[in-house]
Amino acid sequence: MEKHNFSIEFFPPKTPEGAEKLRATRIKLSELQPKYFSVTFGAGGTTQQGTLDTVREILAAGEQAAPHLSCVGGSRASIRAVLADFKAAGVSRIVALRGDLPSGYGASGEFRYANELVEFIRAETGDHFHIEVAAYPEVHPQARSPQDDLQAFARKVQAGADAAITQYFYNADAYFQFVEQTQKMGINVPIVAGIMPITNYTQLMRFSDMCGAEIPRWVRLKLASFGDDSASIKAFGLDVVTGLCERLLEGGAPGLHFYSMNQAAPTTALWQRLVK
Ligand code: FAD
Repeated sequence: MEKHNFSIEFFPPKTPEGAEKLRATRIKLSELQPKYFSVTFGAGGTTQQGTLDTVREILAAGEQAAPHLSCVGGSRASIRAVLADFKAAGVSRIVALRGDLPSGYGASGEFRYANELVEFIRAETGDHFHIEVAAYPEVHPQARSPQDDLQAFARKVQAGADAAITQYFYNADAYFQFVEQTQKMGINVPIVAGIMPITNYTQLMRFSDMCGAEIPRWVRLKLASFGDDSASIKAFGLDVVTGLCERLLEGGAPGLHFYSMNQAAPTTALWQRLVK
């Protein structure tokens, strides 16, 4: 386990109660000794302060923290200011994204795609930050074609990304195919697999529709058949996702990034199964 790269993602809490809950979650998850905790960033700057505050708190507790930074809707001046805040807070690792503007948001700002953000971070701050970018084994929903999406990924690496984290998926073959294709293109950065624990059927279907993650038919039908039986959904989800993680690690994935949804139990349960 130690040779792998394990990280855990949070979103910034919106209320003092949420902050308190996240603190307790983080303390529990620290016992798993992840390499770092990452904290998402609302496109258009909606949770910008929350991201910084959460990252500061994680760093103050002696853990590693990586804020996400999304560029859509931002200007060079605004991103420069955020980078300065990150640097001043002691951040040395960033997850760099384009982001998705909330609907109804007007101007798209001075950055169109994440490769432009990576280029900007390198131009402004040199090698100060370790930069992670997003990868899509099942193809980003807005990509013109899978080939175009691969090229877009390659541009982010060429712009200076050190590593990648994937969108979550439940088809291990999509991941292995993606990694193989990038290697054929001469891309050799670590591509860490993003893992979404399965705990809630309705929420999983909604998220997956939005981000283009495919739920295999047999998994979907089985989850649906459990109805409101949350214990069965969680138990079955744990089996499916543990199997996926095992296959990924055995097949050479350099690490796993857990989308914790600010909950300690699902990631801990998976982790305990994996270290056995
Ligand atoms: P890009 O790499 O810029 O790609 C976006 C789309 O544009 C793709 O379809 C790509 O194929 C296409 N494209 C790229 N370049 C070109 C070009 N030159 N011409 C035409 N098409 C092009 N969102 C947030 O708002 N906040 C977060 O904190 C956040 N964290 C995330 C963490 C991870 C690990 C992942 C996988 C996603 C995260 N997201 C987050 C979601 C992400 O912002 C969305 O998936 C967004 O739609 C794409 O971001 P990107 O950085 O992958 O964009």
